[in-house]
Amino acid sequence: TIKNSGKNNYAFFSVGMAEHQINKSKTEAILREAIDTDGFKMVYQPQVELSTGRVAGFEALIRLKNNKLSPGEFIPVAEENGMIIAIGRIVTKLVVEQIRNWQEKGYDIKSVAINYSAVQMYDYGYKAYLMNLLRENAVSPSHILIEITENIFLENKESTINFLKELRSHGIKIAIDDFGTGYSSLSYLTFLPIDTIKLDRSLSMEFLDLDNISVMDSLIALAHSLNLLVIAEGIEEQKQVKRLKYGQCDAIQGYYFSKPLEVEELELDFDKKYEV
Ligand code: C2E
Ligand code: MG
Ligand code: MG
Ligand code: MG
Repeated sequence: TIKNSGKNNYAFFSVGMAEHQINKSKTEAILREAIDTDGFKMVYQPQVELSTGRVAGFEALIRLKNNKLSPGEFIPVAEENGMIIAIGRIVTKLVVEQIRNWQEKGYDIKSVAINYSAVQMYDYGYKAYLMNLLRENAVSPSHILIEITENIFLENKESTINFLKELRSHGIKIAIDDFGTGYSSLSYLTFLPIDTIKLDRSLSMEFLDLDNISVMDSLIALAHSLNLLVIAEGIEEQKQVKRLKYGQCDAIQGYYFSKPLEVEELELDFDKKYEV
C-alpha cells in the first residue's frame, strides 16, 4: 500500500504541475490576444476622505473585457513573462485618456492611481511615455498617482529612488501600496520620495479585529509626522470605518463604500458624497 500511495502521489503531483503549466500558457494566450486587440479596460474604485465623505481619488484597476480572469491571477503571469511592460503602457494610456474625457465633460477631476509593477522598472522609456501622454491629452501630472510596492526597492534602490524623484518633480504623486505585507521597514518612510501609504487589507483586519489597534494608531501618527497621507485598503465594515476615522486615517478604499466601478456607473454620480 505504501508503494501504491507513493505512485498515486507522484501521479497526482505531475498532473498538478502539468495543469499549472497549461493554465499558465492559457493565461499567456489570453493576455497576448488582449494586448493585440484592445482587450483591457479599467474599473475605478473611489477613495473616500474620512473628514468630509468626499471622493479624494480613484484607483484604476485593470480588467479583461472578455474574460473573468482576475488581475490577481494574470498580473503575476504578465510580470513573469514580461508582458507587464506592454500592459503597463496600455493601462497608463487608458487612464490618461479617461481623465481627458472627464475633463471634456467638465467633471472635477480627482487624482487617479495607477498600479506600477516593479518589473516595469525595466521599461526604460516609461517616464517619457507617461509625460508625452499627459502633454498630448492636456492632463495635468498632478492628477496622477503612481502606486508602487516595497519590493521595487529590493533591486536597484538608487535608480528607483531617482525615478520616483523625477516623477515627483513633475507633480506626480507616489504611494506605497500593500503597506505592511512586505519586509516593511519603518525607517524606509523617512527617506523615500513618497506622498501616501496604503495600509494593506490584512493589516486592517489584523489590527482592527484584535486589541492591537494602538499599532495602527501609531503607524498613522508616524506617517503624519512625516507628512504622508494614509489610506486604509479593503475596509468592509462600519466599525472599521469608525475606528479608523477616530485614529485620524485620511481616507478609506473598500467595499464598505464602493466596489471598483465601471466608468458608466461612476459617472452616474461623479461627485458623490459618502456618509462616514
Ligand atoms: P491592489 O493594487 O492592492 O488593489 C486593491 C485590490 O483590492 C483590488 O483587487 C480591489 O478590487 C480589492 N479590494 C478593494 N476593496 C476591497 C475590500 O473591501 N475587500 C476585498 N476583499 N478586496 C477589496 P483587484 O482589482 O482584483 O486587483 C488585485 C491586484 O492586482 C491589485 O492589488 C494590484 O496588485 C494588481 N493590479 C490590478 N490592476 C493593475 C494594473 O493596472 N497594473 C498592475 N501592475 N497591477 C494591477
Ligand atoms: Mg494598488
Ligand atoms: Mg493594495
Ligand atoms: Mg496588491
